[in-house]
Amino acid sequence: MATPYVFNVQKYSIHDGDGIRTTIFFKGCPVNCAWCHNPESQRFDKELLYFKDRCSGCGKCIQRCPNGANTMGEDGKAVLDRSKCNACGICADWCIAQARDIAGKEYTVKELVKEAEKDRQFYEESGGGITLSGGEVMSQDMDYIEQLCKTLYNKGYSVNIDTCGYAPYEDFKRILPYVNTFLYDIKAMDKATHEKFIGVDNELILENLKKLSADGARINIRIPTVMGVNATEEFMMDVVNFLKENSISVAQVNLLPYHNTGKHKYSKLDRDYDTEGLMEKPSNESMELFKNIFVKNGFNNTKIGG
Ligand code: SF4
Ligand code: SF4
Repeated sequence: MATPYVFNVQKYSIHDGDGIRTTIFFKGCPVNCAWCHNPESQRFDKELLYFKDRCSGCGKCIQRCPNGANTMGEDGKAVLDRSKCNACGICADWCIAQARDIAGKEYTVKELVKEAEKDRQFYEESGGGITLSGGEVMSQDMDYIEQLCKTLYNKGYSVNIDTCGYAPYEDFKRILPYVNTFLYDIKAMDKATHEKFIGVDNELILENLKKLSADGARINIRIPTVMGVNATEEFMMDVVNFLKENSISVAQVNLLPYHNTGKHKYSKLDRDYDTEGLMEKPSNESMELFKNIFVKNGFNNTKIGG
């Protein structure tokens, strides 16, 4: 059983299902959403984030790196050569300016369960639990994920899976008995738009949604709502029609307005956020309009936000 990397364990989360939750973010994703606000979630391997603005020029990373991946720049700040870096984390341990951080940590199932159980009282009081997210949880080692879900579920915790839906259906089927709610993304209804902004076509995603519903899963539909991609009345009606025509059993619809709060992280990984200016947050009026489309069509439990 391979141990996946986790890049964040977020406590007191109130946007990833019912109540107060701990959300566990697994590293690595099979799709490539143009607006992704967690660039450190995209790759399956560990990565070094470098916050150059915090560098004091102490030179410790140059002295300690076993791979000679650092030099001193003319501006008195360290320069990182990523082609030599294997994300060992040694420089992060020595950097007192906290200019370096490793994204990706291995936890055994037992360790993650122990971490999640620290907030047991909050779950009990709020009707919350644990949400497995990413990256993409369904792209991780499924023996590990099944064992994690099963252990948490059998201990009486609410388990949610936040997914893009792009995974073999057999993998959904094996964890279905241990999942309370699937938080299931719909981002575009036509193949071309889906391929353009998400990087893959949506056939598998929509087929899996139909099967999950038919197999009795509790499903919250989540729609990242992005001007320039899908923030139109036409798209919202397409989703409504798909859900109705396929009798998808929907517990809740969440319309998630686009934000770009993660764009600063791209430069810490030496990557470009190359969709700047192409996408915008929809206005509050538009979000209300979209919400009303769902409510008028019988999806009364529709919310703006998670
Ligand atoms: S150890 Fe940190 S503060 Fe010192 S040079 Fe390297 S990055 Fe800069
Ligand atoms: S993470 Fe390791 S290999 Fe990469 S720069 Fe730091 S010390 Fe060198």
